Amino acid sequence: AEQTYDVVVIGAGGAGFSAALEAKQAGASVVLLEKMPSVGGNTLISGGEMNAANTWVQKNLGIEDSVDLFAKDTLKGGDDIGDPEMVRVLAENATAAAEWLKDEIKVNFLEDHLFQFGGHSVKRALIPEGHTGAELITKLKKHMDEAGVILKTNTKADKLITDESGKVVGVEATGAKGNTITFHANKGVIIAAGGFGSNVEMRKQYNPEYDEKYMTTDAPGTTGDGIVMAQTAGAAVTNMDSIQTYPVCNPKTGVISLVADSRFDGAILVNQSGKRFVEELERRDVISKGILAQEGGYAYQLWNQSIADIGKTIEVHQDEYDMLVKDGLLHKADTLEEAAKFFSIDPKALQATVDRVNQFAKAGKDDDFNHRAGLKDMSQGPYYIQKAVPSVHHTMGGLVINKTTEVLNEKGQPIPGLYAAGEVTGVIHGKNRLGGNAIADVITFGRIAGQQVAK
Ligand code: ADP
Repeated sequence: AEQTYDVVVIGAGGAGFSAALEAKQAGASVVLLEKMPSVGGNTLISGGEMNAANTWVQKNLGIEDSVDLFAKDTLKGGDDIGDPEMVRVLAENATAAAEWLKDEIKVNFLEDHLFQFGGHSVKRALIPEGHTGAELITKLKKHMDEAGVILKTNTKADKLITDESGKVVGVEATGAKGNTITFHANKGVIIAAGGFGSNVEMRKQYNPEYDEKYMTTDAPGTTGDGIVMAQTAGAAVTNMDSIQTYPVCNPKTGVISLVADSRFDGAILVNQSGKRFVEELERRDVISKGILAQEGGYAYQLWNQSIADIGKTIEVHQDEYDMLVKDGLLHKADTLEEAAKFFSIDPKALQATVDRVNQFAKAGKDDDFNHRAGLKDMSQGPYYIQKAVPSVHHTMGGLVINKTTEVLNEKGQPIPGLYAAGEVTGVIHGKNRLGGNAIADVITFGRIAGQQVAK
């Protein structure tokens, strides 16, 4: 079968939805291809938090921030491997992207709470209602349906079609029944197919460290198809060995723990000996490596009720909480002693650690690990203790794009008709992506891609 649209978008995650909507709004006819039966990708299962500088919530909270600081934190967080010009584009446009989500797409963000993920100098991560990407994806999908973008699920893009001049003019795909469908694109193709965290072979190809010993937090559809497809059409890739683990994941499934976002409100990490070993707001790679270096290669996250009450992560992620409790991976205890005993930690050692934390909380300075947000008092129970391991979470590497999201070849020239946005690209996050920067990336560049392709 053959179908013709102005724009073909591959991948229905945050980047694909944003791109499709913008292209449609600019007057193009748009089809969005998703290989899985349902939409959302990694965006859906993420915490959905989005960094931006000088937002309305920062103003509500009296937090001073700037585009410069956001860009600086992002670059430094990636060991200065990201492209400074592209990071600048992100930092400059993320605020408008967040306002677009709020005003146009009607995404509800909390008005009075922000996260300060590791590596950020200030609190700048907007939190969507429900603290997951579901709020974003549900609303994006609703608007896209209303706008008349055609969505094809169970439709896997296999190959880019190029004409004699090398211009990308369409996509060859496989439909639900194994049938081949050719989608012609009058204006261009946008690749928004996500990263390759779920593709162990591809992980090993670029960085042997990230083999089968790691589970993944990622959606099953993130297998790097978009990268491979574009490479076949001559695209360059960069930073492919930069693979990120998320430090606090479910030891049974590899899935990210959102209940454990209490870490951003003051929860601490201890090892089997009941001792802290890392600053809890360090970069993900540092914490992950720190955890793997502990006995057994796991850690426990510990917090008390007053920390739990700040972000209410248990209430907002009640299903996850119940599952963790049922699987014996999280325990609520009235006393610290009971919390320690549940995981066979020496109660005295844990008590000594918490006493020290309380001292540092009072002094306003963490002499052991220099906790950047300041430790919180944990003298009062009840306590929560949760077992956690790192798991592959984000692939920083990918396609090389320019400021208008054109995909570049090895010579740095744009491949005509080909655009990309989101985790499939590799120029922003360098060695390490900071928390809250994936959503900022996918929405910001997804929008730019959609606007550009429709021109
Ligand atoms: P981003 O955060 O960059 O938007 P996501 O992981 O949220 O990335 O979304 C990427 C989406 O692309 C996923 O839903 C995934 O299933 C889909 N996808 C991956 N490969 C293909 C393909 N070959 N054809 C169609 N969709 C794909």
